[in-house]
Amino acid sequence: MPTPDLGNPKRTIEILQKYRFSFQKRYGQNFLIDPHVLEKIVAAAEVGKEDLVLEIGPGIGTLTQYLAAAARKVIAVEIDDRLLPVLEETLAGYDNVEVLHADILKVDVRQLAEEKNGGRPLKVVANLPYYITTPIIMSLFESHVPLESMTVMVQKEVADRMKAGPGSKDYGALSLAVQYYAEPYLAANVPLNCFMPRPAVGSAVIRLSGRPKPPVQVREEALLFGLIRAAFNQRRKTLMNALRNAQELGYTKEEIEKAMKAAGLPERVRGEELSLAQFAMLADALGEERENNE
Ligand code: SAM
Repeated sequence: MPTPDLGNPKRTIEILQKYRFSFQKRYGQNFLIDPHVLEKIVAAAEVGKEDLVLEIGPGIGTLTQYLAAAARKVIAVEIDDRLLPVLEETLAGYDNVEVLHADILKVDVRQLAEEKNGGRPLKVVANLPYYITTPIIMSLFESHVPLESMTVMVQKEVADRMKAGPGSKDYGALSLAVQYYAEPYLAANVPLNCFMPRPAVGSAVIRLSGRPKPPVQVREEALLFGLIRAAFNQRRKTLMNALRNAQELGYTKEEIEKAMKAAGLPERVRGEELSLAQFAMLADALGEERENNE
């Protein structure tokens, strides 16, 4: 297998010029040009010879080369058809890489894991297109794809939100959703000059390790996430008011009051003060209220 030769500015520029490639902003194209960062991503993901890696957005194949050198097999999903001939050249020597031309949001990743990995957990590793970071991550979690971990480059500010806890300004619906499914670990902060072109904001590599089961047990997962969304849609309001205003939930003032009491929550508490366990208790109490009133 060849040694990775991309991941430096000179070689990246050569490839871009050869194919007369122009960056598409709408696809979030910021290519990595720093070998240390590439090595760090592979190390943080702990990619080994048994692993099937799903890469989202290979670009010109920079991270793909590093992944292919470390993994058993890499499946790389790229939306931009202009990159297909480039990938054919840059990945020519790597016989364990399969490039799929598709929009990752339309790929049935569960089925892919079933077909290509016998249903065993896979590792997702990517320098994500930032315009769809949250939809990609949430759809992988919510569709219950067997995942060992996701090690992804995201905006620094998004990484901070993913790992924030109650009381922090970064804490919100994304923190709770991510932490329900995974354990976040910030692997590296990555400066602007590691990309071509430079993004407008700082980046970070975050590793989300899949949990064997969620840290809280809740009777209705959908209600838990409905509550979380409602609480943070109006984060400056008290939880009581935010839930009363959330027409999609359809609870009366009395039901909310009773459930909050049953969950041991003070009347004037705000959603941003609640832990995941407290949201889970409240979801169960509200579910029970509804059952009693039916
Ligand atoms: N992995 C390369 C690197 O690190 O240099 C490129 C990363 S770049 C930030 C994001 C890549 O995702 C681009 O190649 C872009 O074309 C691709 N992309 C954007 N939207 C996508 C989608 N919906 N499905 C699959 N790939 C997508």
